[in-house]
Amino acid sequence: MHKRERILTVLPINRRNFFDMKINLLNYTLPKLEEYFLDIGEKKFRARQVFRWIHLYGAETFSDMTDLAKSLRAKLEEIAIIEVPKLVSEHNSNDGTRKWALEVGNGNKIETVFIPDGDRGTLCVSSQVGCALECQFCSTARQGFNRNLTSGEIVGQLWWANKRLGKDPKGEKLITNVVMMGMGEPLANYENVVDAMRIMLDDNAYNLSKKKLTLSTSGVIPGLDRLGDDCPVSLAVSLHASNDEVRDKIIPLNKKYPIAALIDACKRYLEKSPKDYVTFEYVMLDGVNDNLEYAKELAQIMRGVECKFNLIPFNPFPNSGFQSSSWGQILKFQKVLQNAGYITTVRKTRGDDIDAACGQLVGKVNDKTKRQEKWKKLIPINEV
Ligand code: SAH
Repeated sequence: MHKRERILTVLPINRRNFFDMKINLLNYTLPKLEEYFLDIGEKKFRARQVFRWIHLYGAETFSDMTDLAKSLRAKLEEIAIIEVPKLVSEHNSNDGTRKWALEVGNGNKIETVFIPDGDRGTLCVSSQVGCALECQFCSTARQGFNRNLTSGEIVGQLWWANKRLGKDPKGEKLITNVVMMGMGEPLANYENVVDAMRIMLDDNAYNLSKKKLTLSTSGVIPGLDRLGDDCPVSLAVSLHASNDEVRDKIIPLNKKYPIAALIDACKRYLEKSPKDYVTFEYVMLDGVNDNLEYAKELAQIMRGVECKFNLIPFNPFPNSGFQSSSWGQILKFQKVLQNAGYITTVRKTRGDDIDAACGQLVGKVNDKTKRQEKWKKLIPINEV
């Protein structure tokens, strides 16, 4: 069999450009790109050149790659492509936050948010079109789920953000940190998320440090264990409750992976993590999880776990059924945890004027789960 045909048959369908069957090089980590170059009869070091062109210099066409022989450029144009998701909108918040929507085919759109804060610039990246989990307080969950993003679509968000933001006056890139906290559950799209993160960490690409790349999960324990071995990055866990009774109600995944097992998994992860603590995220829901007894319970169950808490004021969305805890209650909750010896911060809400805050990313999901319909039925038509 011809070599190119062999490559096409082993690649999953969503990695191919369907119309001309060209290979999308944006999906490849450097080792995979090197393997591809060897497969097409080219030298390995050429892969590194192309990889740098794509990710370091933002090239979108092979003709831009001026240090490659014309014959190689022509060959690559025949068989491969650099296909970034299409940028369809850009919103700028009064506080400097920026949000982009990217089209990923079949009527699906995903969102990416840039949050500047002093010397730090954080990009919040999506990992799925919608989300298959049903966390009750999250608007992405209401949208249902279509599919996992490819590694190219995940890293493509960083590619675009860098392109749109340009560099600061010193010539430095503005994105210093990436958080996998956009739409989707990253550990439910394990392989593609890990490949995308490997590209983000590569010094021939975005050169992020493992401490500045954070994956946030609602607690997919098997994925967490694999991640510790494959690609240990900083970890945030969406805890949001201090006991299973409350957590079962707001995060259905807790029935499968309850709190005690999740804490054990965090301890195992810490042995491999680039940071010596886990961040527990805790969305403050009025009358649901914000009683001070719960803060005391949290302090108790986390004894012996190296961790910090990040309290998140609930960001409202239409018909959510929840309200944020009052500012006073959030501060009291914080105080209980601080008095128990835990570093506890309250997350600043950013970009709320452009619906770019946590849990507000919705994009457009061609829902396969019928969840959008379910919610429409539950909520009277005139309120939708
Ligand atoms: N699925 C992953 C990452 C996406 S959510 C996870 O669960 O961690 C990023 C963070 O925002 C999570 O902690 C999530 O629980 C929180 N979040 C979701 N909806 C929110 C809302 N409406 N207000 C505030 N935070 C929210």
